[in-house]
Amino acid sequence: MKSRQIRFSHTAKRIEDIFQLHKDKLGRVINLAVKFRTGMQEIDPFIQQHTSIVCSKCRKKCCVNKHACYTCEDLVYIYALGLSTQEYGERDESQQCYFLSAGGCRLERALRPSGCNWYFCDDLYAGMEKAPGRAYADFDDSLRELSSLWMELTDEFLMQFNAMSGHQMHIADLICSSRRRADSPAPASPS
Ligand code: SF4
Ligand code: SF4
Repeated sequence: MKSRQIRFSHTAKRIEDIFQLHKDKLGRVINLAVKFRTGMQEIDPFIQQHTSIVCSKCRKKCCVNKHACYTCEDLVYIYALGLSTQEYGERDESQQCYFLSAGGCRLERALRPSGCNWYFCDDLYAGMEKAPGRAYADFDDSLRELSSLWMELTDEFLMQFNAMSGHQMHIADLICSSRRRADSPAPASPS
C-alpha cells in the first residue's frame, strides 16, 4: 500500500539554523557527534563482516523505505557534523529502501538513520556472537558506549536549546521527530 512520506525539510532547516546561529554554544554537541561518528566507523568492519554474510542470504530484508527516515535526534547529529540532509520525496514505504544497492546500504554506516544502526535481527546477532575470541564482547562494549554517547549528545543539545529558548521541552516535543508529526507546528528557533 502506498503511503505518503512527509518531507522533513522544515525540521531539518530549523536544526541547521540552530547550529549556524549558535555554534559557539553547541561545541560539546559537535564534539560528541564527531566522537560518535568515529566510534561507529570503528565498529563498522565487524558489523559489515557479518551483514555481508547474513544479510546477503536473507529472504526477508528489513531494508524498506519505511525505516529510512531520520528522527529529530538524527538530524541534530547530522547538522552537528556540519553535514546536510537530502529529501526523501514520496516513496512506497513497503518497498525496498531507496538507499539499498546490490552491495548493501549506500550510506556510510555512521550517517544512516539511527533506527537502522540500532537494529540487529536475531540471525545477525547469532552470527556475531559466534565470532572468535573477544570480538563480540568488544563490539557489545562499544555499542553500549555509543548508546551512552548518543543520549549524551541529545541531552546536551536539548539542554542548550532550552537554555537559549527559555522552554523546558523534550526533544520530541521541541522538534518534529517523526514523519507522522513532521508537519506539526514547531516552536520558534531560539533567538
Ligand atoms: S538485518 Fe536481518 S532481517 Fe535485516 S537484512 Fe540482515 S538478515 Fe535480513
Ligand atoms: S540500512 Fe540503509 S538501506 Fe537499510 S533501511 Fe537503512 S538507509 Fe535503507
